[in-house]
Amino acid sequence: IDRLAAQRGASNRLVVLAGPTAVGKGTVAAHIRDNHPGVALSVSATTRAPRPGEVEGVSYYFVDDAEFDRMIEAGELLEHATVHNAHRYGTPREPVETALADGNSVLLEIDIQGARAVRREMPEATLVFLQPPSWEELVRRLVGRGTEDNAEQQRRLATAKVELAAVDEFDHEVVNGDVGAAAQEVVDLMQTRKARR
Ligand code: 5GP
Repeated sequence: IDRLAAQRGASNRLVVLAGPTAVGKGTVAAHIRDNHPGVALSVSATTRAPRPGEVEGVSYYFVDDAEFDRMIEAGELLEHATVHNAHRYGTPREPVETALADGNSVLLEIDIQGARAVRREMPEATLVFLQPPSWEELVRRLVGRGTEDNAEQQRRLATAKVELAAVDEFDHEVVNGDVGAAAQEVVDLMQTRKARR
């Protein structure tokens, strides 16, 4: 029993999926949510407005600045960060702790600053860096989704250049060429024993 418990404790049950802008973190995370019901996908709080089709409590918890401040003050967020110099995002602590205590796997899809903060708070977390197949493909995805104007695209690409260097701080790299294959790699990682760093 002790050995089994130790093995369970050493597995990758808390996985942080991060990577540069437009690499497809959200798509991979949604694919895992929809195809692997055993994995709990953390729902973040954010101060940004909902986009068409986004659902409160599924996509995000949409809150105003005052509520976000209150959550920080109350210690309800495991980590929080301002992303792309715009809105604030944070991971509610309680659902993560409950899922882990129940023996379930949890996936956090957050930015790189958030990944670093989770590592500090919960050193048992496994950090997975999602890579684009190439720089050209990353540019193509960012421009292709058309959700940012030209100036914002340039800002995000500059940030992405810096963020790509953060891969060295991560435990694993997954290349997001095909969404289903990338999702499967992440799920497989959750089911294997944690590698020693
Ligand atoms: P979007 O506004 O496009 O949904 O997300 C923008 C960025 O915020 C993405 O890079 C996403 O990974 C990041 N993000 C979403 N939730 C969180 C969170 O709880 N914490 C942190 N640090 N980043 C988050």
